[in-house]
Amino acid sequence: MKPDVIVLRLGELTLKGKNRHRFEKAVYEQIRRAMRPYEKLTFVRDFGRVYVELNGESYADIEQRLRNILGLASFSPVYSAPLELEAIEAAALAAMGSLDEAPATFKVTVRRVNKRFPYDSQEMNKRIGGAVLRAMPELKVDVNAPAAELKIELREQRALIYSRVIQGVGGFPLGTNGKAMLMLSGGIDSPVAGYLALRQGLKLEAVHFHSYPFTSEKSQQKVKELVSKLAEYAGDIKLHLVPFTNLQTRVHQAYKQNLLITILRRAMFRITEKLAEEQKASAIVTGESLGQVASQTLGSMNVIGRAVGLPVLQPLICMEKQEIIRVAEMIDTFTISIQPHEDCCTLFLPPSPSTNPNLRVVESIEGHMDWLQEEIDKAVAETQTVWIGAGKQAAFSDYF
Ligand code: ATP
Ligand code: MG
Repeated sequence: MKPDVIVLRLGELTLKGKNRHRFEKAVYEQIRRAMRPYEKLTFVRDFGRVYVELNGESYADIEQRLRNILGLASFSPVYSAPLELEAIEAAALAAMGSLDEAPATFKVTVRRVNKRFPYDSQEMNKRIGGAVLRAMPELKVDVNAPAAELKIELREQRALIYSRVIQGVGGFPLGTNGKAMLMLSGGIDSPVAGYLALRQGLKLEAVHFHSYPFTSEKSQQKVKELVSKLAEYAGDIKLHLVPFTNLQTRVHQAYKQNLLITILRRAMFRITEKLAEEQKASAIVTGESLGQVASQTLGSMNVIGRAVGLPVLQPLICMEKQEIIRVAEMIDTFTISIQPHEDCCTLFLPPSPSTNPNLRVVESIEGHMDWLQEEIDKAVAETQTVWIGAGKQAAFSDYF
């Protein structure tokens, strides 16, 4: 027996009133878009849930797409049956058999919407529970903390039976909280920051600074692969490739001491802010984590952040490296990130970068670089923008 319905739970149940309505509408639209290749599907919305009728489409193909939909809390493959005891029993066994691992304990939960059905909930509970126990004798009933829950909904026309629950990405539907520019290096952290920002409902455009030919073509390729991973959740993403070589070389010629990184990073933020203005984004997202390196102390971040007026969001700020790595592995960016690459920021490193720069001193050094603004404008003007889609496995980017 194969599942013929999928029940989707939309998520963020803590949201209230208008916000909740907006949220559900947005996630529903995304589900419809991601499911567009499956023409035979039909959808019924029902109080924070969506019932998808498969009408012959294959469940397995659809499952992978559903796993990547932002705002979708969880979903279950459902076995439907006519309102007859034997058919419901058979579907219950199929649902229990669909679990990834055989559970040690279970319970049956019956919801009887159809009051004309001859057996009441308790009776159904006993009968179906008994049938499952006969078929799976090693299983035990635990009504308080069961490893699996077999749900039976007795509706007007038929019964819906399911037990497998697949966790979705959760969070907010794509773009429902606005748009931000993600400063994306080839490292481990910034793709994770990007994923967390997407999950929180931010639409993203990625900005990458390269110092070609000091940094190779290959490190740009790597960044494109990382964006492609994020596109599995977001659909096509714009990637802005900023040529940073000239500005960087010029700054380095003029100043080689311990505030060099601070000055270069302030320039990167200013460029990103200009791109944000052009693209109508209202925040900058970075992968900083407090204390990780010299430029990620509070003192440094304060002076760097003051170069721009837009809010700088740092989703990883209080995460430990191991936690960040766990997310990177989950979203499959880790193996890409650890490929060797040159980063523009590691060129021309001063011997001991300042961990506590003084804003007035930094501004005074920048004040002597009367060409700095011009170099910033040039870098913005020469930025190349490309669209990056998802990889082949989850190529639903065409539908966004
Ligand atoms: P990551 O792993 O994301 O590279 P990191 O721990 O190496 O982070 P830094 O190199 O100090 O930290 O960079 C801090 C943040 O600045 C990055 O997370 C990223 O958001 C941004 N950043 C650094 N280098 C670049 C770059 N070449 N292009 C765009 N953004 C960058
Ligand atoms: Mg880095």
